[in-house]
This record gives sequence, C-alpha cells and structure tokens, in this order.
Amino acid sequence: MGDMEPKIVFLGTGGDALVVSKQLRASGGILVSLPDLQIHIDPGPSSLTELRRNRFNVRETSCILVSHQHINHSNDTNAIIQGITLGGLDKTGVLVTDEAATSIVSDYHKGCLERVILLQPEQRVGIGDVEVVALPTFHSVPGIGFKIITETFSVVYSADTGYNEKLCAAYADSDILILNVVAPFGLGSEYNLSSDDAVKILSKVKPKLAIITHFGIKMIDEDPIYQAREIHHRTGIPVIAAEDGTVISPWAYAIHKQQKRLNSF
Ligand SMILES: [Zn+2]
Repeated sequence: MGDMEPKIVFLGTGGDALVVSKQLRASGGILVSLPDLQIHIDPGPSSLTELRRNRFNVRETSCILVSHQHINHSNDTNAIIQGITLGGLDKTGVLVTDEAATSIVSDYHKGCLERVILLQPEQRVGIGDVEVVALPTFHSVPGIGFKIITETFSVVYSADTGYNEKLCAAYADSDILILNVVAPFGLGSEYNLSSDDAVKILSKVKPKLAIITHFGIKMIDEDPIYQAREIHHRTGIPVIAAEDGTVISPWAYAIHKQQKRLNSF
C-alpha cells in the first residue's frame, strides 16, 4: 500500500533513440500514484526495473496510458500487463491509447485486460474518480497526449509533439504541465518540442508548474537544469527539469483544492 498523498514519479527522462538505447537516462515513463488509482504513462524500456528501483508495485497499477507506438513510449506495455494481471490470471486493468498504438500490444495481452479504450483527441473517459482527456499531438506518427483531471488537480502530459497553437487551447486550465522537451533552445524541429516551444506554450497556458522531461542528447549536453532555469526566466512560470526518480507532489499546485473536477464540467 502506498501512502495517501498523490505523487507524480518520473521513471525515466530519456528522449531520443541515442539516450534511450544507451540508457543515459531511464525510459520507464511516468507514474501517477493516486490514493485509489495507480496510472502508468508511456511504459518504455526499463519500466519494470524503474518501478522496482522507485519502490512501486506493478500489481497496484490499474491503468496504462500509451501515447503512441514509438518504442521509447510503449515497449514495455505487454510486460506491464503481464505484471498487472499476474500473467493473465487476473483479468484486470485498463489500457487507454489511440488506435495506431494498439499494434504494439499482443492480442493475448489485450485479452488479459478488463478494457482497452481507444481515444481520439478531445474524447474523454472516466477511470474510477479520474477523468482522462485525449489531447492532440503533432508528431511523426499518430498519437495522443493526456490530461488527467482528479478531484484536486489536473495534469497534462504533452506526449511527443511538435509545436502547434492548438496545443495551448488543449492545455488550458491545467495545474501541472509535463512537456516532452527533446531539444534545447535554438534546435527546434517539426515533430518534437524544443525549449523555445516550451516558452511559447507556457507563456500562453500559464500552469502553476511546468516539468520538462524526455531529453535528447543535445538537451542533455546543454543541461536540462540550465534550460529549465532559462525557460522560467523567460516566462515567469516555475519550471522543473525532471531527473530519473523525481517525485512531484501535485497537491501543492492544486488551484481548486475542493472541487477541481466539478468545476471543470
Ligand atoms: Zn515519438
């Protein structure tokens, strides 16, 4: 049993193929641990190892969110399902993803789950007391980002995406914004966010807290901590550069501590 306080735990902060293949940073995704629900977002290679290292039990996960089919976001999905369901003995757990990404889950493992839910941007689904909203992405393959709305806070995970103005509208009214910032200032690209893009997004969305993660090798060379400081300097928004094992307490950043979810609908 985990304690009752919600936590967001970074089981990996590696972004591009080089960083992930050499495991310069881990790539186990992000765990959102709530009192009654453990959500595993984008279980890339090293997910099980990182769960253990960070003292979480895969059996307590009941919801997997997979943003897209790239290996560094989805590789360990079958292994996590195997863990959640005790090798299929317990038909339990929910996978939320977009249609294209279902190709990475074996038919056998789909059958182990209670439900597989396919979402398109703007569609939403209730999982226990939590609402999961699919967000648009502008990446090299189809996919979705996620907004998780709990009773006390909301957190957006951008997933992999290039910059687009539509993102700002989709991210509006989020307390915590997790951005996959693959590249540093001056190295923008079509399919991924750079620090320049993070500045554009944060200036418009104005979350209580921004967390940058999913770093490519150029970003690591430039030092994500320095990049986070500079993004903060240009926007005034608090920005944290996630490290492997970083734990965030979302409660501290909740705006409407009583009725966040009711106010959102
Ligand atoms: Zn990708």
